[in-house]
Amino acid sequence: MSKQVKVAIVGGGPAGLFCAYELLKNNIEVHLYEKTGGVGKKFLVAGNSGLNLTHGEELSSFVKRYGVNEARFKKYIEDFTPMDLVNWAKELGTETFIGSSGRIFPKKMKAADILYQWMKALKDHPNFHLHLKHELEYILDDGDLVFRHEHAQKIVRADYYIFALGGGSWKKTGSDGKWIDYIEKLGVETRKLKAMNCGFEVEWSSHFLEKVDRGFVKNVIVTSRGESARGEIMLTPYGLEGGAIYAISNFVRDEIDEVGEGVISIDLKPDLTFKEVLEKVTKRGKDSLTNRLRKGLGLDKVALALLYEVLDRKKAQVDKEYLAHVIKDCLITARRTRPMDEAISTSGGVCFSSLNEDLSMKINDRYYFIGEMLDFEAPTGGYLLQGCFSTAFQVAKSIKGKLNV
Ligand SMILES: Cc1cc2nc3c(=O)[nH]c(=O)nc-3n(C[C@H](O)[C@H](O)[C@H](O)COP(=O)(O)OP(=O)(O)OC[C@H]3O[C@@H](n4cnc5c(N)ncnc54)[C@H](O)[C@@H]3O)c2cc1C
Repeated sequence: MSKQVKVAIVGGGPAGLFCAYELLKNNIEVHLYEKTGGVGKKFLVAGNSGLNLTHGEELSSFVKRYGVNEARFKKYIEDFTPMDLVNWAKELGTETFIGSSGRIFPKKMKAADILYQWMKALKDHPNFHLHLKHELEYILDDGDLVFRHEHAQKIVRADYYIFALGGGSWKKTGSDGKWIDYIEKLGVETRKLKAMNCGFEVEWSSHFLEKVDRGFVKNVIVTSRGESARGEIMLTPYGLEGGAIYAISNFVRDEIDEVGEGVISIDLKPDLTFKEVLEKVTKRGKDSLTNRLRKGLGLDKVALALLYEVLDRKKAQVDKEYLAHVIKDCLITARRTRPMDEAISTSGGVCFSSLNEDLSMKINDRYYFIGEMLDFEAPTGGYLLQGCFSTAFQVAKSIKGKLNV
C-alpha cells in the first residue's frame, strides 16, 4: 500500500469500534466519529443485565436466528464465528464462560472494563483518531460527510466510509435512528425502524391488577403465528415482558401492525401433555379449583393470576377438559408494542437489496453499513452483538481485500 488510506467510521458502538480494531491491524488510518461524548454507551447498557456476548450453539442452528437473512448471515458468521469473538475477548484479557442456556458471558470483567481495554488497544495505535461530539448531519452531493462539532460544521473526506449508526432504541445512548433521511438520499433503500425484542401492552382486568404487581412465570412456551419460544415471561401492570416474549416479539408486533392486535398463546405446563394435565386436574376432585391447580400442577400465585385472567372459572369447575385446554393454550391479547425507545433492539434500517454481499453500497462501493442499522432481526441470546461484530469484520475484510493488504 503506497499512499496512506483513510477510512472514516461513523458511530462508536460495538460495530464501529470493532471495525476500527480490525482495520488498524493493517496499518490503515482510521478516523472514528461519535456524536456523544463517549463511545459504547449501548454496550454498557447491555452489560447492566449481564453482557451476553454470543452463543455457544452449533453454527447451523446459530445462523437460523437471523430468520429471512439466514443465508447472508451464514457467510458473515462463518467468517467471524462466535469462537472468534471469544478469542477476541481473550485478547483484551476477558475470559468467557458458557451458561446453562448456551449463552456466552465474560467471566469476571464488566462491560465497562472490556470497553476500557478495547479503547486502550485502539488509542495506543498511532493510526487511530477518535473524534467525539461529532454528529453526522448530512452527506454532500460529492459524497463528503458534514459533521456538527461544537456549533461549527466540519467536512470530512475519506477513501472509504463506514456507517455504524445503530438502531432506534435507547436514544439516551446515542442511537436515535435519525440517520434514515440522509442515508436514503445517499441512494440506499431503508425500511422503517420497528421495536424488536420488546414488551407488549395488555389490557388486564382490575382484578388482575389488584393481584399482581410484577412477577415471573418460569418455563413456559409462548407462541405467536406458529413460532414458539421457551423461557420465562414477566407480568407487569402494563403487560408482558421477558426473554420468551422478546424471542417472538417480531411475530406479535407484525400481527398487531396487520390486524390491530396480537394473540400470544402461553403453555403453562410445556413438559406435560394435554392428557397428563387433564389427569392431574381430574385426580384432585375434592380440592378447590385453586388447590387443584396449585398442588396438582405446581402453579404459583402469579401463574394462577394469569390463568384466571382467561379462564371461565365456573365452567372450569365442571369441565376439566376445558380447564386442561386453557392451561396448555392460555390466550392473551397484546394491544400495542411498548415504546420503541424501550426495546432491546430494532428491526428495519438499511435494506440488503441496496448492498453488495460485502455490505458496500451497490451504487458506490466506497460506502459501507454495519451493525444494528442494517435491516436484520435476531432474538436476544448474544445474536445481536455477534451480528454487529461479524458484519464489522466483513467490511474490514472487504476494504483490506480492495487494498490488497
Ligand atoms: C438493554 C439492552 C440490553 C442488551 N443486551 C444485549 C446482550 O446481552 N447481547 C447482545 O448481543 N445484544 C444486546 N443488546 C443489543 C446490543 O447492545 C446492540 O445490538 C448493539 O449495541 C448495536 O451495536 P451498533 O454498534 O450497531 O450500534 P450502537 O451500539 O447503537 O452504536 C451506534 C453509535 O452511533 C452513534 N451515532 C448515532 N448517530 C450518529 C451520528 N449522526 N453521528 C455520529 N454518531 C452517531 C451513537 O451515538 C452510538 O454511539 C442490548 C441492548 C439493550 C438496549
